[in-house]
Amino acid sequence: MEIWGITDIGLVRSENQDCYHCELLEGGTALAVVCDGMGGARGGSVASATAVSAFVHLMKDRLGQENAPELPELLLRAVQEANHVVHSLSMEHEEYRGMGTTLVAAAVTAEELFVVNVGDSRCYLADEAGICRVTRDHSLVEDLVERGEITAEEARVHPKKNLITRALGVGGAVKADLFERKNTGGCLLLCSDGLSNVLTDEELCAEVHSANDGCCQRLLDLALERGAPDNVTAVVVQL
Ligand code: MN
Repeated sequence: MEIWGITDIGLVRSENQDCYHCELLEGGTALAVVCDGMGGARGGSVASATAVSAFVHLMKDRLGQENAPELPELLLRAVQEANHVVHSLSMEHEEYRGMGTTLVAAAVTAEELFVVNVGDSRCYLADEAGICRVTRDHSLVEDLVERGEITAEEARVHPKKNLITRALGVGGAVKADLFERKNTGGCLLLCSDGLSNVLTDEELCAEVHSANDGCCQRLLDLALERGAPDNVTAVVVQL
């Protein structure tokens, strides 16, 4: 396996509130996490950086121990830990009140892949056959699409497409979704909405399915060509 990541402020925002970490761990597990923060007065970037750091710390700490929990259990615990740390920080500092972040993370072994998410940062799986989205967004427009009230195309330009229905750090606990797949090859993409809002699934697939060390830069270049109205983050895992 190989793993690459990139993040960029984009062309419009004054601060990068996205944050990511990706790493091939001893023992061969690939770990990737992308967070997209929200909240004024630096709250957004503090929330995403704090969540990534707390999440990765717990994962690596527990994975190194004997009797470590299975990866699905560990991922869900790491999400709760990250939620706790971000929420506590927001309670302790007036200027961070109300901050929060999305989180999408993957732990990949030679046999299986496990993905958790909160909010609208996404995970896709791509190979020669095409691309499919692994995660389901926790957003108003995703709910409207599922209820058949708007189409996927209408969702892309909906005035409230940024409204998320779940965020990490805004409450004492958070519900994350967990997805499990057999590792049958191809590539995994984790990204913030700054990428998925400006590129179609087909465009993402074209860059990601035969991933190499330039694929994250090419994804970013495409987003910048489209005006990059939001922060852009991508992590690619070659399975
Ligand atoms: Mn964003």
